[in-house]
Amino acid sequence: MQLRQNDKEFEFVAKAEKAIAADLARVDEIALQNQAKVLDAFHAHNVGQRHFAQTNGYGYDDIGRDTLAAVFADAFGAESAVVSPQIVSGTHALTAALFGLLRPGDVLLSVSGEPYDTLKEAIVGKDIGSLADLGVVYRSVALKDGDFDVQAIKEEFKQRIKVVFVGRSRGYEWRDALSIEQIERLCKLVKSLQDDVIVMCDNCYGEFVDTLEPVQVGADIMAGSLIKNPGGGIAPTGGYICGKKELVRQATFRLTSPSIGCEVGSYAYGYREFYQGFFLAPHVTAQAIKTSMLFGAAFDMLGYQTMPRTGAVCRDVIRSIKFNTEDELTAFVRAIQSASPVDGNVTPFAWDMPGYEDQVIMAAGTFVAGASIELSADSPIRKPYIAYLQGGLTYEHGKIALANCLKTLNLIH
Ligand SMILES: *Cc1c(COP(=O)(O)O)cnc(C)c1O
Repeated sequence: MQLRQNDKEFEFVAKAEKAIAADLARVDEIALQNQAKVLDAFHAHNVGQRHFAQTNGYGYDDIGRDTLAAVFADAFGAESAVVSPQIVSGTHALTAALFGLLRPGDVLLSVSGEPYDTLKEAIVGKDIGSLADLGVVYRSVALKDGDFDVQAIKEEFKQRIKVVFVGRSRGYEWRDALSIEQIERLCKLVKSLQDDVIVMCDNCYGEFVDTLEPVQVGADIMAGSLIKNPGGGIAPTGGYICGKKELVRQATFRLTSPSIGCEVGSYAYGYREFYQGFFLAPHVTAQAIKTSMLFGAAFDMLGYQTMPRTGAVCRDVIRSIKFNTEDELTAFVRAIQSASPVDGNVTPFAWDMPGYEDQVIMAAGTFVAGASIELSADSPIRKPYIAYLQGGLTYEHGKIALANCLKTLNLIH
């Protein structure tokens, strides 16, 4: 990377920033409200050094683990939570919740199109102990014009539904994420159709993007990854499940064993990074959103299509940018990699990633391997050539990375 502060690319970045100044200020306001929520939760549970201690063995009465869960539950406005380094990823957290809630013969209805690739496999995969293998019926309704297809959902409720699944973020699709208001309307709708239906939300990339979380607007349970927003870039691994007490309890039986749930579980490295990461999460999420908005504004000014559109409120931390050719897409992803603090010397190539149909190219020069709250980009190699950019621990880094992309693609004359 050979950039200087007075390069024309930085001038262009400043121009883009000016154009969205009011929108950026709104993001800081959301971060302020969320920071207060998190701080209140720390105070409510008297978080102290003792909660960071290393534990081992069974971990009975591990106050670090239990208090961390209570802090998450409070900040997210949930009755109960499980937060654990033993949850290996977002998929694991979501899978535990689904397997905890569903029994043979139950119907699972996804109302936001197909779930995230790795989760879909856990639902319908053959001969792997998926939900389908256990006799759970899966159905899905696609979104219609970026919103829930009310008519089609009503039609599905002619049969009894146990769990409605909603994916807040966008996955590898050219659509915006769902807003908290949309999720609220969805919850009202499905509960009016069947009052005991359980709404479960894939909250990946959505945490702290708004001032309310899905469980505060009618969702019964939600789950996500700690190497995304709520880990604040500090948590080294892990996931969380939050929601109604009995539902979270059912999920814990799948997470460990039906006889022990989450009364057990120790962590020999201690819990400080999880607390510290959660404390930083509202701010770091805001840094990622501002980075996303800046990339959006700049590429918009240069005539590219990006999602969400400039000026629109961000509903997750992802920015989709449509490129004209595979070469351009590849150059963009490589420019993100070369602006990364880790492995900045590495050149990414597209590869056959397990579980994906097309080859995927990724920029992931991150401190925590694969952490997508850190600045990263990925894209399946297929038409239209859409790059999905996410994360950014600091907005300043986002600016530098943007300037690097503009220079690499030779877009500023
Ligand atoms: C990241 C993500 C997941 C979970 O993926 P993991 O890689 O297992 O953490 C699920 N859904 C969405 C929308 C995601 O972005």
